[in-house]
Amino acid sequence: MSTHPVIQLENEHVVQSYKRPPFVLSHGQGMTVYDTDGNAYQDWVAGIAVNALGYGDPGFVAAIQNAATGLIHTSNLYYTAPQAELAALICEKSFADRVFFTNSGTEAVEGALKFARKVAYDNGDTERKEIVCFTGAFHGRTLGSLSITPKDKYQKPFHPLMPGVIVAEYNNLDSARAVISSKTAAVILEPVQGEGGINPATPEFLQGLRELTRQHGALLIFDQIQCGMGRTGTLWSSEPSGVTPDIQTIAKALGSGLPIGAILTTNAVADHIHPGDHGSTFAGNPFSTTVAKYVFTRISEPAFLANVRDTGAYLKERLQEINSPLIKEVRGRGLMVGLELTTDVSPMIEAGYQNGLLMVNAGPNVIRFVPPLIATKADVDPLIDKLTGILAGAKL
Ligand SMILES: *Cc1c(COP(=O)(O)O)cnc(C)c1O
Repeated sequence: MSTHPVIQLENEHVVQSYKRPPFVLSHGQGMTVYDTDGNAYQDWVAGIAVNALGYGDPGFVAAIQNAATGLIHTSNLYYTAPQAELAALICEKSFADRVFFTNSGTEAVEGALKFARKVAYDNGDTERKEIVCFTGAFHGRTLGSLSITPKDKYQKPFHPLMPGVIVAEYNNLDSARAVISSKTAAVILEPVQGEGGINPATPEFLQGLRELTRQHGALLIFDQIQCGMGRTGTLWSSEPSGVTPDIQTIAKALGSGLPIGAILTTNAVADHIHPGDHGSTFAGNPFSTTVAKYVFTRISEPAFLANVRDTGAYLKERLQEINSPLIKEVRGRGLMVGLELTTDVSPMIEAGYQNGLLMVNAGPNVIRFVPPLIATKADVDPLIDKLTGILAGAKL
């Protein structure tokens, strides 16, 4: 089907909750995607930090083909090997003792909130209902995760939201200290905020929250759905701080394009979760866990992570070299980099499409670079050339 009929069909039949540019993507290779008119785009979005292995990775394709000939789905009524194996692999490479699988990021967050409630409930801690989240956070679109995503535009039409949510200021330990108490069930944050503008938490902030949550008997939840899975050049973005949480949510890159997420927990938390407390029909099925096993193994290889660090450092350096009065700041780590401008970035993103670049914003003034984790320094140079031209052409 050619470009125009696809767009027309979509416009007539799909709920119009997304604003899309006027081309239709059809296939990809490496970190390049192509549209139905044959135009190529260098992909700095990767399906929003999802397609870690890029497009057409032979090992990934083989893993899918292999998984397709096995059991696809059995429900969680039965044991299957791939789920157990993937859980073991994740535990080996993280703080976690146990894993609960989900189909998406927001489901992982919902489950994490339920786990926190269950721990307090089991302890007879009837007052402990509050969840502390932070300014600039994004935790998802379903009602629980939306309730801890303090953005008016997302929340306003959907009240009443989950009660007991308190918003503290990100990277401000005093602000957190003022609200964490014996009523706090959990404190949740992204160690590097994605949607909110690529904002890394300082190590001191993470360490301080770990201390405060311990003092007050609250759980610490890291949402590493975007910043985890090698995105920042270490498997987990919290590694440089030395802090480990009680619960961690992951998703996005875990399936490199297949929908799968997970809740990682300690035994201290998991010991409170029993049959009937939580569940999912699809989650952890043999198909997605077989593929995710392959993806997780690839991403956790030291050489793979070293490439993320090297390419990311080069990306940051080259972005910093661009001489434009529109640039306010370059920030982030690994291949999770934000370019903050003094102006609305949507015209630059539009101009990117004309220049064969896919880019995405993170808030109104930040261009977010979250490419496939296989991106190399050689991929950075054409981006910088094009972006320099786009910024020079932008009206001040
Ligand atoms: C994308 C994202 C989510 C939501 O994930 P979905 O798979 O879209 O539900 C939650 N938290 C963070 C930090 C995210 O980046």
